[in-house]
Amino acid sequence: MKQYRGRIAPSPTGLLHVGHARTFWTAFLRARDAGGILVLRNEDLDPQRSKAAFANAMLEDLDWLGIRWQEGPDVGGTFGPYSQSERRGQYLQVWKQLLERGFLYPCTCSRRELSEIAQPPHDHPGAQVHRGPQDEGPMYPGTCRPETAADLSKQYNSPAGVNWRFRVPDGRAVAFEDGHFGPQRFVAGEDFGDFPVWRRDDVPAYQLAVVADDQTMRITEVVRGADLLLSTARQILVYEALGWPAPRWYHCPLVLDERGEKLAKRHDALAIRTLREQGRTPAEVLGTG
Ligand code: GLU
Repeated sequence: MKQYRGRIAPSPTGLLHVGHARTFWTAFLRARDAGGILVLRNEDLDPQRSKAAFANAMLEDLDWLGIRWQEGPDVGGTFGPYSQSERRGQYLQVWKQLLERGFLYPCTCSRRELSEIAQPPHDHPGAQVHRGPQDEGPMYPGTCRPETAADLSKQYNSPAGVNWRFRVPDGRAVAFEDGHFGPQRFVAGEDFGDFPVWRRDDVPAYQLAVVADDQTMRITEVVRGADLLLSTARQILVYEALGWPAPRWYHCPLVLDERGEKLAKRHDALAIRTLREQGRTPAEVLGTG
């Protein structure tokens, strides 16, 4: 059997909170118990929202929790090639491959147009499906989608200047087995629409970057929050489009606040850092003590 390779992939857009701590702890234990490798990757693609100070805080918080990784920066070091901002060349290659295979099309809809035309996604009966940070906005109705899929690589040699979307096979059920939640099933064109893979401001989008990285870093199991279940269905389509085998999936239940809402980085009261400053122990933060 292939050696287990897991990863933790925080975005340095705020302080990590209790929810991150528990998900990353699960990722750490699963890699450790499998005698495998854990990779730490800095998902700092968004130049406006990513801050070096948050990346440093992530390293310290993970270290304080007792989470150890085998690939990635040392505490106090820099992420280097484990930062998405340093991996652009690789994402461009993937954009090109998808383009040549006829999976992409340019989308010129403005943010305002999108908010006016987009349809609310169908409600999904799966209780654990929370719309995640990558699900912003309702479902794209396909305004810019060309009638037939085609290789546009003769017309475009760079993604810059326009949004790029992945054309989903409408009606296709994407099913996968989740290590925690069991069998999952989402329908393309009903549960999610054509999704962005490259932004108009020339930043690769999450769905493309994460698949490219998990493939290059030879990740065998992706452990992350349940808010990304729907993104997993999108990513499976990207793996298929590229002819790559998908990893296994393990989604962790989300930690909810007192109002039953998903924790966000604005919940400073539940930031690992705040709890640590208040004298809580790692075991208390992790809920293992
Ligand atoms: N960077 C993403 C986030 O912080 C997680 C991506 C993933 O684990 O696939 O929401």
